[in-house]
Amino acid sequence: MPVCELCGNDYDKAFEVKMAGKTHIFDSFECAIHALAPACAHCGCKIIGHGIESAGRFFCCAHCAAESGVKGARDRV
Ligand SMILES: [Zn+2]
Ligand SMILES: [Zn+2]
Repeated sequence: MPVCELCGNDYDKAFEVKMAGKTHIFDSFECAIHALAPACAHCGCKIIGHGIESAGRFFCCAHCAAESGVKGARDRV
């Protein structure tokens, strides 16, 4: 049985996520997001939408990007 690499849960419906050539195994999206999603450089929350990338930093929304001095950030919809 595959085992979730984050919480170690042994679950028959675990799934694989391929990211940057590396395969990860998780039992739930919660674990996958916790392990793989980038964190907002301003508020620290996990970015599970498109987010905003600026100069190598990730933000969850235009508000956080603007608060951190990114000019002209807009939510991608
Ligand atoms: Zn897990
Ligand atoms: Zn944020």
